[in-house]
Amino acid sequence: MAVNIEQYKSVSSELSSNQVTLVAVSKTKPVEDIRALYDLGQRDFGENYVQELVDKQAVLPADIRWHFIGHLQRNKVKYIAPFVHLIHGVDSFRLLEEIDRQAARCNRMIDCLLQVHIAREETKFGMDEQELTEALTKSSSLKQVRVQGLMGMASFSSDDNIVRDEFQMLRMLRDKLMSPENPLSILSMGMSGDYRMAIEEGSTMVRIGSLLFGARGS
Ligand SMILES: *Cc1c(COP(=O)(O)O)cnc(C)c1O
Repeated sequence: MAVNIEQYKSVSSELSSNQVTLVAVSKTKPVEDIRALYDLGQRDFGENYVQELVDKQAVLPADIRWHFIGHLQRNKVKYIAPFVHLIHGVDSFRLLEEIDRQAARCNRMIDCLLQVHIAREETKFGMDEQELTEALTKSSSLKQVRVQGLMGMASFSSDDNIVRDEFQMLRMLRDKLMSPENPLSILSMGMSGDYRMAIEEGSTMVRIGSLLFGARGS
């Protein structure tokens, strides 16, 4: 097993002393690895692929809080709506509407984060400031979803200044768009390689995979 137990213990105590939530990103990793961290008390796990998440959820303890952190297609929302804890990557109002519809069918409330395009790279998903503002305004009409905050992925860059700028941009957007009705209290930013910097820049939730579970097969 490639799970690094000592690393997990040190990262999770570092994060809890900073009041930052650790989402352990277990995509492509076997259920035994998830179970190993579960047995140490970890409850928040993140997955990127709908089918993989559904399969794992079916065989793992019911009190795991499953975070969907991948790119979600509208026609797949129905598979995760019955149990998902938080959907991080909402990048359009149409997707939010579909989540609302499926949440209503399951008679539950689903918490979501809007994904912001902060990286300079063209390939990353997410909304710009105008789309974000519109989606937030329109989301007040949806009864079964709650927008709890923002999520972003920084550029894959060895230049710390670029990454820091991107985290700062996300934090500033949050501060600008938050309101008493919509406090946007969750800021999901930071991964294995940049989580410390993300926390310095105000992250409240980090998504860490390879540092805990080992590198993913290439
Ligand atoms: C895979 C993934 C992570 C975790 O990445 P690591 O570098 O392995 O920590 C975090 N966020 C998202 C959106 C991911 O797809």
